[in-house]
Amino acid sequence: MSDVLDAPTRPAGLNYVGGAWVPSASGDTYTRTSPMRPSEVVGEFSASGEADAEAAVAAAAAAYAGWAALPLAVRGRYLNAAAAALEARGEEIARDMSIEMGKPLREARGETARASQILRYAASEAYRPVGEHFEQSATGAQVSTRRRPVGVVALITPWNFPIAIPIWKLAPALIYGNTVVLKLAYEAPQTGLHIAAAFAEAELPAGVLNILTGRGSTVGAALVRDPRVRAISFTGSVATGHGVRDEATKTGKRVQLELGGHNPMIVLADADLDRAVEAAYAGAFWSAGQKCTATRRIYVQAPVYDAFRTGLLARIERGRVGDPLDPEVEVGPIVNESQFDEIVEAIERGKRDGGTVLTGGERADPDGYLIPPTVFEGVADDAFLSCEEVFGPVTSLYRFETLDEAIERANAVEFGLSTALFTSSLVAATRFQKEAQAGLIHVNSQTAGAEVHVPFGGIKSSGFGPHEQGHAAIEFYTELVTVYIDP
Ligand code: NAD
Repeated sequence: MSDVLDAPTRPAGLNYVGGAWVPSASGDTYTRTSPMRPSEVVGEFSASGEADAEAAVAAAAAAYAGWAALPLAVRGRYLNAAAAALEARGEEIARDMSIEMGKPLREARGETARASQILRYAASEAYRPVGEHFEQSATGAQVSTRRRPVGVVALITPWNFPIAIPIWKLAPALIYGNTVVLKLAYEAPQTGLHIAAAFAEAELPAGVLNILTGRGSTVGAALVRDPRVRAISFTGSVATGHGVRDEATKTGKRVQLELGGHNPMIVLADADLDRAVEAAYAGAFWSAGQKCTATRRIYVQAPVYDAFRTGLLARIERGRVGDPLDPEVEVGPIVNESQFDEIVEAIERGKRDGGTVLTGGERADPDGYLIPPTVFEGVADDAFLSCEEVFGPVTSLYRFETLDEAIERANAVEFGLSTALFTSSLVAATRFQKEAQAGLIHVNSQTAGAEVHVPFGGIKSSGFGPHEQGHAAIEFYTELVTVYIDP
């Protein structure tokens, strides 16, 4: 492993601005430690501030005209080259991800592979329409629409998908001709800096992509305020996202927010129970439940409730909790001490509110921030655990009688990100896709997971603005103009 970690391509914890690796203007750095072994240092990273945001936006603004003038297919070549560069160091990136934010290696590998797929998908957008053609009504002369880039865009990303989320924002931003300043999450800088290394290797023109590390409240807020930034795409918590939106719209920016979720799964009595149990386990506990699409509530129809509960508890017994670098481990640590403490407190609150812990609920390692899969029962529909996002491996079981009741209770939260129904009834599945209040609707698959070529995003309090990914990303990263051409 050490020869992988010492590879010369490993970024050194500097920012990437104007095509060069640079320290923060103040010279300040911060230390990131491992969530599995908190006494071990992962690395030193630039604690960027306002001056760094200013320099990155200036570099992006200077690069804009040249980049926007290139044909889409030429821009796409850089994305394909960066995809290949990421693939070449895929194992190193996956390991860095596991070490710095605790994602189990098996999922970190998958996420890293997905980053390259997203880049390749976005590059293929070069061969799709960028407008529509009409006739003027009086003369038949040409009138058409055309998509044009927005300008400099700032991307603010969370730690829980430290390569996929930055890439699924920057890939469409770049292919459509924008230049980018990407602010990486404070807790997962090493993974994101590999993106800069890959684009440097792809010989992307200087300033087209700039990547900064540091605190959201300093460097992130400076990007949100900067009037030269024309659009902000943000993924993170509801409170921070709403603050970002309110500040950004003061200077007329377009804003896209992907926020939290409280994702329900419904199991009908006619479902394949083994499949439902497996999906519940993966949806609630992989990545230690640190996914916006993780399964937080599981509604099970009364005739199969006991069998489902027995099956889920048996599956938890079989699952491996521990060091995320162990390829067999399915549930790794919580990202840091403060998130760990919040989850422990939420578990205590769930008990105080009358819930019963069927399994888990206790710290699972003296050093690492490990919480084993935790299942509650008997939690009231209006209790904290049933309504508020707890970003950890905690889920609750609820018994229901009818599909009407299940859909109503599943919809009764402020969030609307993802939802799943397990059934063999076409009638139930058809109703569910019409009535479920979520941007992502699954029938017989887990609440988490996203394909690269289709839209991703929430409704209700889970999102704001156009959705991400697939061809839908063109909405946010371009402006639509209408062109009348009279001969
Ligand atoms: P967070 O809101 O704390 O931080 C997100 C990003 O915003 C980070 O880069 C942070 O540094 C930055 N930031 C913080 N304060 C800022 C400010 N004042 N101005 C500008 N930027 C600022 O979220 P997190 O803890 O990193 O991520 C977890 C949350 O993200 C969860 O709520 C989860 O549900 C959500 N999430 C949503 C999706 C989705 O697509 N819907 C995906 C992943 C995570």
